[in-house]
Amino acid sequence: MKIRRGVIELVMESSKDSLPNEFAALLKAKKDVIYEIALLPGTISGDRSAIMQLWARPMDLGYVGTIHSHPSGVIYPSDEDRSLYSKFGNIHIIVGYPFNLHSWRAFNNEGAEISLEMIQ
Ligand SMILES: [Zn+2]
Repeated sequence: MKIRRGVIELVMESSKDSLPNEFAALLKAKKDVIYEIALLPGTISGDRSAIMQLWARPMDLGYVGTIHSHPSGVIYPSDEDRSLYSKFGNIHIIVGYPFNLHSWRAFNNEGAEISLEMIQ
């Protein structure tokens, strides 16, 4: 699996704009390349973790997982994240403050870190 650099850049910018709240979206892939995110209306909220609001979303085949931000800068899944990961998707990305091209990691549906190549 690979991800386009532009997707990471877009999410980093959106994560900055969402501070101090989390930003969350679904990942869309064609073949083995994640090329787009799907924004969900109404998912950005105050106190409630953004990631759990993805759970109510009907899924189609193009969605392979989730991406969301951790303003704390801790780039590991929380218990809440792991719970969601176990229910949906194969690949989940967490981006962390300071939201640059190095401050992200990818995880599988068990919450274990996996490698994900960034391409142009
Ligand atoms: Zn999280």
